[in-house]
Amino acid sequence: MRSAPSYDNADLRRLDVAHHLPPQQDWALQESSGGSRIIVRGEGSTIWDAEGNEILDAMAGLWCTQIGYGRRELADIAHEQMVQLPFYNSFFRTAAPPTIALAARIADLLGGSLSHVFFNNSGSEAVDTLVRTARYYWQAKGEPQRSVIIGRKNGYHGSTIGGVSMGGMVSMHNQGGPWVPDHEHVMQPYSFEEQREDEDEDAFSARAAQAIENKLIEVGPERVAMIFGEPVQGAGGVIIPPRGYWKRVEEIARKYGVLLGCDEVICGYGRIGEWFGFQHFDIQPDLVSMAKGLSSGYLPISATAMADHVVETIRAAHAPFVHGYTYSGHPTAAAVALANIDIIEREGLVMRTKSDTGPYLAQALQTLSDHPLVGEVRSIGLLGAIEITSEKGTSQRFGAKPGLAGALIRDACIERGLMLRAVKDTLVMSPPLIITHEEIDRIMLIARDALDACEPALREAGVV
Ligand code: PMP
Repeated sequence: MRSAPSYDNADLRRLDVAHHLPPQQDWALQESSGGSRIIVRGEGSTIWDAEGNEILDAMAGLWCTQIGYGRRELADIAHEQMVQLPFYNSFFRTAAPPTIALAARIADLLGGSLSHVFFNNSGSEAVDTLVRTARYYWQAKGEPQRSVIIGRKNGYHGSTIGGVSMGGMVSMHNQGGPWVPDHEHVMQPYSFEEQREDEDEDAFSARAAQAIENKLIEVGPERVAMIFGEPVQGAGGVIIPPRGYWKRVEEIARKYGVLLGCDEVICGYGRIGEWFGFQHFDIQPDLVSMAKGLSSGYLPISATAMADHVVETIRAAHAPFVHGYTYSGHPTAAAVALANIDIIEREGLVMRTKSDTGPYLAQALQTLSDHPLVGEVRSIGLLGAIEITSEKGTSQRFGAKPGLAGALIRDACIERGLMLRAVKDTLVMSPPLIITHEEIDRIMLIARDALDACEPALREAGVV
């Protein structure tokens, strides 16, 4: 019955090197390491590789499998929808029932005036749609000079040309530019690295928000279309903004009459204890991008939500918005996303993250804070980070350039059956929302063991 040939592990690793180019990776390392680890199965919060190793997936795939692996219900829904109508487009004034039902469901979760949803396939595309919408909105309003978008350094908004331009990742900007003009980036609210000794949390928060206002004034407020950011920066290293930051940023957006956009690709769908990150920070964006947890990664789908006033302005232009993807609102992906949201709701995973597993993770992380390599632990909901430092009480790192300790400890975790990610020297985690206390305890035990095991080599490498 299987259409894929049944290769063994060695075949797959060989073919991986020969033919498959993995995303966001060093292809030379892929080759020298003999190919990718082959992941063959998942159940709950656990994955298995082709060698039979069991790995606790504290990254939820890639910040996305909120409901965990192995949910037959989603496979059954996909099967039913594929038999009924696998695909039809939404270009020809046509749409399939799951697509419309999903749009209505998302609008309901978002609340407020965010009642319209445009579908895409990936987070990057959701961001591209959001940028095009913001700029087109201002054109439709008769202010076409408003093209500047202000984001943050080290923000991540995807890998398309639009996503890279909008994001603030220097490593990405250094490859393959030039980028889309009129994207500005200001300091990130990353207290571990950027808070000054003479600043308390409030002063740091005010300075980080002020950087946005300063940039707005520098560019000229009449040229600014939008302020945009992740409520909590994920790929940048789980950077949790200081208290008051987002409220202040929202005030700045309102003061100058510019749009406010939130990239909820990671924070959305319960990750930080509310359906969306902006709800946690009690702000009201005009545009919202989302992906990942929307379908728990079971099928690719993303969405861009828009406030009523944005849609009304675009409707008033009485012209087609010449933007969209073949698979915008893909019926099968939409049906699966609906079933995923059903499960998140039925199992109370958002509330559980807020009042049970989130606080439990925070406490569990604290148990690592006495470790000599740990400079800081932090978390919000089920997003957590461990900062590795060579000298406690500072943000000093090991090695000649950042990343040595992070990669070493991450690999030691994986060897011990725990999947974590390293963002330079910050270990980050984002477990499925179904994670149990026992599994959270296991994350900490393995992490501590990996820290202990790596410490001698790191002390030897020292600070260069
Ligand atoms: N925005 C944010 C905040 C993300 O975290 C990501 C992916 N990690 C993206 C956009 C891009 O999503 P995708 O990889 O699905 O294109």
